[in-house]
Amino acid sequence: MGIEKECVMCGANFTTRSNKATSIYRCEACHSDKKQNRIMATYTKNLESQVVSLEDRVLRLESMLDTTVEIMVKAEVMNQLNHTPVVLDAVEKLKIDTEKKLMALNTRLVGMTGGHSFNKKKKKVKK
Ligand SMILES: [Zn+2]
Repeated sequence: MGIEKECVMCGANFTTRSNKATSIYRCEACHSDKKQNRIMATYTKNLESQVVSLEDRVLRLESMLDTTVEIMVKAEVMNQLNHTPVVLDAVEKLKIDTEKKLMALNTRLVGMTGGHSFNKKKKKVKK
């Protein structure tokens, strides 16, 4: 009907459940405490490794994001650099075209109303 022992943890007397329990040195409470501690230790260890792996993932994600943003910024800057001369060229072309058109229009205007014909008309009106 069990062996009476003194718990090595808390010093309390306790009776083992079996007569052959020679390897039992702790009372139920201390045994379950130790078990609890072991469970908690395992749980904590798992949690810690999970946190570590989560931190790793966050770090990897951050560096990935940094790289992505960096690439995107670089691409955008390159894009702008590549497009700026094109835009400037287009503006320059438009300016030249407009100037040409204005010149042509001016020439036509001068040809139609300018100089002699205008004076002739004026003279004709005056006459
Ligand atoms: Zn105990």
